[in-house]
Amino acid sequence: MIHTHTYDALVVGGGGAGLMSAIYLSREPGLRTAVISKLYPTRSHTGAAQGGVCAALGNLEEDHPEWHMFDTVKGSDYLGDQDSIEVMCNEAVDVIIELEHMGLPFSRTEDGKIAQRPFGGHTHHFGQGPVRRSCYAADRTGHMILQTLYQNCIKNGVDFYDEFQVVDLLLSPDGRCCGVVAWHIDTGDLHVFHAKAVNFTTGGFGRIWSITSNAHANTGDGVAIALRRGIPLEDMEFYQFHPTGIYKLGILITEGVRGEGGVLRNDHGERFMERYAPTMKDLASRDVVARAISREIREGRGINGKKYVYLDATHLGADVIENKLPDIADFCRTYLGVDPVREPMPIQPTAHYAMGGIPTDIDCRVVTGPDNTVIPGFYAAGEVACVSVHGANRLGTNSLLDLVVFGRRSGLDMARFCKTADLPPLPENPTERIEATFARLLATEKGEPAAKLREEMQDVMQDHVGIFREGPGMEIALAKVRELQERYRSVLVLDKGKRFNTDLLEAWELGNLLDLAEVTTVSAINRTESRGAHMREDYETRDDVNWLKHTLVTRSDEGALDITYKPVTITRFQPKERVY
Ligand SMILES: Cc1cc2nc3c(=O)[nH]c(=O)nc-3n(C[C@H](O)[C@H](O)[C@H](O)COP(=O)(O)OP(=O)(O)OC[C@H]3O[C@@H](n4cnc5c(N)ncnc54)[C@H](O)[C@@H]3O)c2cc1C
Repeated sequence: MIHTHTYDALVVGGGGAGLMSAIYLSREPGLRTAVISKLYPTRSHTGAAQGGVCAALGNLEEDHPEWHMFDTVKGSDYLGDQDSIEVMCNEAVDVIIELEHMGLPFSRTEDGKIAQRPFGGHTHHFGQGPVRRSCYAADRTGHMILQTLYQNCIKNGVDFYDEFQVVDLLLSPDGRCCGVVAWHIDTGDLHVFHAKAVNFTTGGFGRIWSITSNAHANTGDGVAIALRRGIPLEDMEFYQFHPTGIYKLGILITEGVRGEGGVLRNDHGERFMERYAPTMKDLASRDVVARAISREIREGRGINGKKYVYLDATHLGADVIENKLPDIADFCRTYLGVDPVREPMPIQPTAHYAMGGIPTDIDCRVVTGPDNTVIPGFYAAGEVACVSVHGANRLGTNSLLDLVVFGRRSGLDMARFCKTADLPPLPENPTERIEATFARLLATEKGEPAAKLREEMQDVMQDHVGIFREGPGMEIALAKVRELQERYRSVLVLDKGKRFNTDLLEAWELGNLLDLAEVTTVSAINRTESRGAHMREDYETRDDVNWLKHTLVTRSDEGALDITYKPVTITRFQPKERVY
């Protein structure tokens, strides 16, 4: 059965970016807004964010948005667009105060201001040493943001369609965005949502790799749907590995541990970051620290020769750990049987964050092509989008900030747009394409389960498209991913029913992950330099002459991936060599 709904604005995703956008839309009188989310909103990955959200409040020492901007540009290895970065750093201060006024329970200084702690790559006086810029609510910052925003959405009467999985984007015959198709997980019915504007805020796709900090639901649905609808994906070769995931499990140990004074040690007990980043040491940017850990492990200085090093917080004392990092202490005790008050934590880098995604302008309007042509009515914000504030490497705490700043901007611009736009016509047979996809997935009687194909993809991506990359290895990965795409044509969905058919949905999600693994690998093979998180051992240096540009990858009608480029916006800070 097919149901139809009509709204002015749709927000797809109930994470930080989606809810912030919905709050701003809901403030516009007369505008009908709905949030559609495959998860119950407060289960979104934003709720797992630990360490903090940054803004140059200067509550504990001198700080300025301009320093924050410089750090973000440098952190991005000069690939971030400086107009977007400037907007984000300037609006940060105001948006944090706004969250405080919405009721977010931040941790406090002794005199009652929002407490702040240092984080990797955030410095004072343009790189002179760490600055306290991350605002936090213990190590549950994302949880508090999500709860606060959700409460405010409920207060403002936003309509929620929870556990509705969006499976297609609708474009009207004249090229405007006009809605989405969603699968109601409970009933297996299709719903057509017809609207003037749609905002994709569907988060990241860390499940491409085997060791990941990302939730099971982070399967890049929005990014893959956009690709299938002919929209280019930007800078997909840049994927961040967070330095400190729990050994073998990938569960994140926040950088806040190092912000509070924790240090990394190798098998000799050496604080090795002093060698790699003499000024910032353990608080260098993430790409630098993750590479340093991997080097130590590769050169045999992992603990007992194994694939991990120690994150040592024992000198911080029980008080700091129990009060400022309570969840971390809990994770370590539960999953490792290690008490971080008394013992160091075994960690290894873990796949964490997508710098690339759906290209947008600073008002979150989705743009295509080298000259940034706007698709009327289509927006994207948060991790799904590439605006691009993070360039080749994101700084810690800049993602939560990205969500609230660009979530807000997207809501404001959509409200403006909806006031004058008319409702574009739906295409004929809006559900035709997805019905064919699901029918195909359900028809197979003999084939391999999605879980098996997924594991093979994760292993090959971990081995060859991880922290260190080189051409021949990535070619192996690409061949494997394409072989898996072939085998995926006969993926076996055992559950043929309609209600809560997670077997079917996971098979569909695997199709998304495989497409994104392919685009990531193709983009990474194509970029013959090292920049930020993209480290090629066969092209070890950054090459500004040939590669100071964004990659755009489009799927042609025949299925091939086409690569084009667009320039980086540089306003204030010219590219320089990057040292920490
Ligand atoms: C463990 C962890 C800790 C982190 N800590 C920090 C930190 O301290 N500071 C920081 O700045 N960043 C941190 N990050 C990064 C940051 O949390 C994420 O980048 C950010 O939360 C993503 O938010 P989002 O709103 O874009 O998406 P998400 O919060 O991932 O939400 C995505 C939403 O989209 C919905 N959705 C997805 N697909 C569909 C679909 N097909 N149909 C309908 N709905 C869909 C989901 O239901 C969900 O509601 C952390 C990330 C992780 C994984």
